[in-house]
Amino acid sequence: MINVTQPFLPDFNEYTSLIQGIWERKWLTNNGPLVNELELKLKEHLSVNHLLYLSNGTVALQIAIKALDLKGEIITTPFSYVATTSSIVWEGCKPVFVDIHPATFNIDPDKIEQAISSNTSAILATHVFGNPCEIEKIQAIADRHKIKVIYDAAHAFGTKYHNRSLFDYGDISTTSFHATKLFHTIEGGAVITPQKHLLEIMAWLRNFGHHGPEEFRAVGINGKNSEFHAAMGIINLRHISEILSKRKELSLIYDQRLEGLNVSRQRISPNCTYNYSYYPIVFESEAHLLKSLAELNSNRIFPRRYFWPSLNTISYTRGQQQMPISEDISSRILCLPLYHTMTEAEVHLVARLLLRAQNN
Ligand SMILES: *Cc1c(COP(=O)(O)O)cnc(C)c1O
Repeated sequence: MINVTQPFLPDFNEYTSLIQGIWERKWLTNNGPLVNELELKLKEHLSVNHLLYLSNGTVALQIAIKALDLKGEIITTPFSYVATTSSIVWEGCKPVFVDIHPATFNIDPDKIEQAISSNTSAILATHVFGNPCEIEKIQAIADRHKIKVIYDAAHAFGTKYHNRSLFDYGDISTTSFHATKLFHTIEGGAVITPQKHLLEIMAWLRNFGHHGPEEFRAVGINGKNSEFHAAMGIINLRHISEILSKRKELSLIYDQRLEGLNVSRQRISPNCTYNYSYYPIVFESEAHLLKSLAELNSNRIFPRRYFWPSLNTISYTRGQQQMPISEDISSRILCLPLYHTMTEAEVHLVARLLLRAQNN
């Protein structure tokens, strides 16, 4: 069986060597030494100043929205994972969708301003598949209207934009270290901000609003993560360059093997070093996609329809404007299997089956 992804697992003994210390210290969670070590190592690795390790990427989004005290409407993209939209709704705000650009799959900055109203408090955009949004345009709009910017950077680990981590943009960037992501801590996530005061607020929010053992400064949540998860992160970080280069290598083999396939690709920003976090292809039509998917599935190969359906069509957001580009791309896009232990022969097989489905 070949799934869309398979989590990276380090050598078992490498992992247990860190777990041993947890037994000795008997400190399992609540900002333990491994959590602190992971935060330090991530800040070093990413060259960012303020980062908090959290229980997952969804809580990261909720904490970011809460920390910026966002109210009313938040402008966002219909082409992302559902957590981008559901976090906005969960925090009592209204998602206002702006359609994506057909080449980049990211929110189209030229359509943002017409969606801004007096109730707009922020823009929440996703760097889709690790491809940077048009950051300068988005920031200029936000500055002009005095609204905040959050990036859902769940796919962005390892992407650099103008030689800086893609996490280093916007008021807050959130990310996920879920097992399906290219850098993972089993479950996990983080918030990154250039603003020290926001980090302080998010640190209370992560820990029930505690300010010392008996004082509560804000309505908080439990967004903490454990020593066991941090241990997986510390170890996986040691292997990150190997993970990134393997994904690039496999992606280039796909490119080569799929030359005769009638599909289009995402346009990656020229100003970035890309992380090859996904391998999306866009078919001519949904019918073509379904035919290819059936061919792959019958050979026990399971790509995923990221992202389908378009988020403006789900039950709790329906009734808003149609998003023709997002709805169209959503219906035709497929992410092919891509993971560290995938073999060249498996990439060849997937490619061969796709070409066979096309030419049959
Ligand atoms: C994975 C993902 C999330 C959610 O992260 P979790 O850690 O699974 O909660 C949010 N947004 C995007 C774009 C994602 O891909």
